[in-house]
Amino acid sequence: MTVHAHPDDEASKGSGTIAKYAALGARAVLVTCTGGEAGDVINPTVTDEIAAIGMAAVREAELEASCQALGYESLHMLGYHDSGMPGTEVNARPDNFANADLDEATGRLVRIIRAERPQVLVTYSDRHDFYPHPDHIKTNQVAMAAVAAAADADRYPDAGLPHEISKVYYVEFSIQMILLLHRAFLERNVPSPFSEFLERIPGLADLEVDGIDAPPTNGLTTRINIGGFLAQRRASLAAHRSQIPDDSFFLTVPDELVAEVYPYEDYLRAQSVVAVSVDERGWETDVFSGIDGLVWEPTAGLEALVEAFTSMDPEIEQSS
Ligand SMILES: [Zn+2]
Repeated sequence: MTVHAHPDDEASKGSGTIAKYAALGARAVLVTCTGGEAGDVINPTVTDEIAAIGMAAVREAELEASCQALGYESLHMLGYHDSGMPGTEVNARPDNFANADLDEATGRLVRIIRAERPQVLVTYSDRHDFYPHPDHIKTNQVAMAAVAAAADADRYPDAGLPHEISKVYYVEFSIQMILLLHRAFLERNVPSPFSEFLERIPGLADLEVDGIDAPPTNGLTTRINIGGFLAQRRASLAAHRSQIPDDSFFLTVPDELVAEVYPYEDYLRAQSVVAVSVDERGWETDVFSGIDGLVWEPTAGLEALVEAFTSMDPEIEQSS
């Protein structure tokens, strides 16, 4: 189960991981806390559609297409209004997520957790230095409160049978990933899509970071190799046409460069009730490590999976 704030967050944060585990046969479930109604229309080609059916409907359709691209089997809307970026008018709406009563919002998510009974839950950390969106901050608070409450029979007794989640992760957008890709662009004498972001924080572009052969650092614990699932990630991003301009760095970073330089999505393991395993460098490489009795089996043939993990399909690459 992943718990995200807005439609499109599931596409930009950890989406390759979902595509991978869904291909392996895991049941992937998405909870999106808000309808994303306050998102700016970044792509003018969608303006007519928004005028016709409204922003919420456009974004929900985009979300459904993104879920399909990644292999999510189930989508739950938590049902709150987007709270908008700090300092905007929608901050004051009483029905927005940031203003929601914590216990009431927690109860909604507890009901979903107890119904879906996930082994692993992925959400955001409580650190929002680079992107202090009120809905992302609230997502962390509600998700962590719901993880604890869902396991406690005394809390929300009418919301289903208690369920303990084995492991909780924070999805991270690591500085290693950004800098290693940024430098790979510069080495190839092509403009880096990360330059603008890096220029915002003086000194960041020159920060020393470890290569991918180094042990975990910067608070990360876990990285998932998603090199074979970049086409699905790209398709899920592209589904959010109203939010992602055609020249967004999410869409312009070439998949073959990502596959070569940093084919990972990064996580911080926030909680675990099982003993995890790590590789020789100290990285946990499987969010299900340590969980016995997995209730899912690979649905794709073994050969197809080996292929997906070890190579990029040139046809998929061209069509994306
Ligand atoms: Zn968001």
